[in-house]
Amino acid sequence: MTKRLYNFNPGPAALPLEVLEEAQEQFVDYQGTGISLLEMSHRSHTVEELNQETQLLLLKLLGLPSGYEVLFMGGGASTQFALLPLNFLNTNQTANYALTGSFSEKAYKEAAYLGLTHVAASSKDQQWRSIPELSAAQLAPDSAYIHITMNNTIEGSRYNEIPEVGSTPLVADLTSEILSRKLDLERFSMIYAGAQKNLGPAGVTVAIIREDWLEKASKKIPEIMRYETFAKNKSLFNTPPVHAIYMMNLVLKWVVNKGGVEQLEQLNRIKSGLIYDVIDHSGGFYNGIIEVNDRSHMNITWRMANEGIERRFIEESEANGFEGLAGHRSVGGLRASAYNAVPFEACQALADFMVDFARRNG
Ligand SMILES: *Cc1c(COP(=O)(O)O)cnc(C)c1O
Repeated sequence: MTKRLYNFNPGPAALPLEVLEEAQEQFVDYQGTGISLLEMSHRSHTVEELNQETQLLLLKLLGLPSGYEVLFMGGGASTQFALLPLNFLNTNQTANYALTGSFSEKAYKEAAYLGLTHVAASSKDQQWRSIPELSAAQLAPDSAYIHITMNNTIEGSRYNEIPEVGSTPLVADLTSEILSRKLDLERFSMIYAGAQKNLGPAGVTVAIIREDWLEKASKKIPEIMRYETFAKNKSLFNTPPVHAIYMMNLVLKWVVNKGGVEQLEQLNRIKSGLIYDVIDHSGGFYNGIIEVNDRSHMNITWRMANEGIERRFIEESEANGFEGLAGHRSVGGLRASAYNAVPFEACQALADFMVDFARRNG
């Protein structure tokens, strides 16, 4: 086998090697059934069981009790940007958005096509360098919900704490940090996440909705757009992305084997800490983009003196086995995405490389 790279891709992102190997082993003949899972009916007992097991395991790992619907959908997190207001933004009510980066802005724009919106907080005029204050007092009267992006993948920031928004339903995009730290998810009426950062491959998107809030969803939209349709049919209304759900199932079992979310949170703090330490002790050679208190533990972003040296850093990193360190095309700079599946050794190797590069070029 060729040597695996140190994969810091922002998404689709690194998957645990054990998961890839297990899937490979089952690829042609799934669990002795004589056919591949890719060829199997989604109405089969095997797929029904896989589907249900995966939903229950996800709820358990997230620390959610009963009273929630777990939906496996298509279309990525971006489709949730539109489905959320379609389902929950009624005429005369206002949807609140906290703008903390470009994904939150995209979510807000989709809602603005569909109804009344209000920007409850924004750090746009600080180039997203920090997470703005957010409290119940900043919300519009007669609010349908308040949407936040818990971890900002492109910018490299995150909410340290879930904001206090009173009784207004709180909805969060957790795409780039689900299962990476312990959060009291019962505070949310809905969370959602595209799989391809912390849950598995692209193709499946998770939406988890409190049953009592789901009852309030619109019945005046096409059935296929309704969360209720997916809930009633256990996400088997139409053909789900079965293989992506299987891969997520393997990732969830891997999380259990690693000791669950609490263990991963500790490890993620250490992993990101290795890289932030190099940035903070580089004498200005590397400059962190985000205010220290709002730094993400998943997406670590920094800049260097000029684009020339940044380009050289990327080229040399690639020659040394690192993948995916260029910042998002919209912001430039550098970004290391150290999701759950990125091993400690990869972060240690990157920290060492950064120290060495600074010594040679500083
Ligand atoms: C990647 C990402 C998205 C977009 O996900 P798609 O599945 O490509 O639609 C949305 N929000 C956040 C926070 C992301 O990290």
